[in-house]
Amino acid sequence: MRAVLLDKPAPIESQPLRLAEIETPRPGPGEILVQVAACGVCRSNLHMIEGDWVAHGVPAKSPIIPGHEIAGRVAAVGTGVTTWKSGDRVGVQPLWWTCGHCEYCLTGREQLCRRKQITGETVDGGYAEYLVATAAHAYAVPEALDDVEAAPLFCPGITAYHAVKKAGLAPGRSVAVFGIGGVGHMALQFARLHSAEVIAVDRNPRHLRLAREELGVERTLELGSDAGATLSRDGGVDAAIVFAPSSAVMRQAAQAVKPGGTLVYGVHAELGEIPFFEEKSVLGSVIGPRQEMLEVLALAAAGKVKAICETFPLARAGEALRLLKEGQIPARAVLVP
Ligand code: ZN
Ligand code: ZN
Repeated sequence: MRAVLLDKPAPIESQPLRLAEIETPRPGPGEILVQVAACGVCRSNLHMIEGDWVAHGVPAKSPIIPGHEIAGRVAAVGTGVTTWKSGDRVGVQPLWWTCGHCEYCLTGREQLCRRKQITGETVDGGYAEYLVATAAHAYAVPEALDDVEAAPLFCPGITAYHAVKKAGLAPGRSVAVFGIGGVGHMALQFARLHSAEVIAVDRNPRHLRLAREELGVERTLELGSDAGATLSRDGGVDAAIVFAPSSAVMRQAAQAVKPGGTLVYGVHAELGEIPFFEEKSVLGSVIGPRQEMLEVLALAAAGKVKAICETFPLARAGEALRLLKEGQIPARAVLVP
């Protein structure tokens, strides 16, 4: 099969990815072989490829095939698999495998399982014609969705949904989403489903235009050094959600939250000082469990949220990542092998 391989992390401009012909993997017991129809290009992929997460043990193997938001078809099943058959439409998210019996797995917080395997980071992912997935962590793709629009639901979709759930939104409450890319543009849509007042904050006017014109967000704010102060002066927001990987943005978002409000963060960053007498809650958010993934798929199938995509062939994976880095992908790039 054709696959995009990363041998050694390096800046994307130095072209660390190579397209290669390698042996198609075989599914083991409890696993399925997925023929990839579409795989989203994620900022997390860029972090891994450029070596930002080496200290966290990612990538865990070399070479590795990146990619963790996948839609495709079951091409073969391993022994013991009864829930899938060849030809079924299927999706795979970053959570590739979890142990199933630790305190996190038993309480619906399996994304925190200490033994978890992550698609495209600890095991091979979807920048390829095929990948192996675990049957228990694969999802039926609803008929109403095509492969390209389904793929980003498996990372930006679930990541945004989980973060918005943590923000405690309700009619009459307000939320500012800092960083409107692949995840942010989904978060805006989920937030609107709560009838909350939604504010999009980003450095890039193109991303803000997408929020206004394609997602119906009424208020957008250009991210300068004073966006946090501006929102705070206006009374502050009930919740801020941060998807821009920047400590400066994180501090602005914390400032924007009104006393008693909630800051949800989905990136690595430093927060700085938080005064206790304002009683602000600070909550981390990473991917999301299987039950929430099913909820995301149901909402998308009902037409309530939609990933905005542009497609690239496998051979242009490096280019898609470079454009993402340069801020030229307003929503989601999706590879189509
Ligand atoms: Zn992702
Ligand atoms: Zn576990």
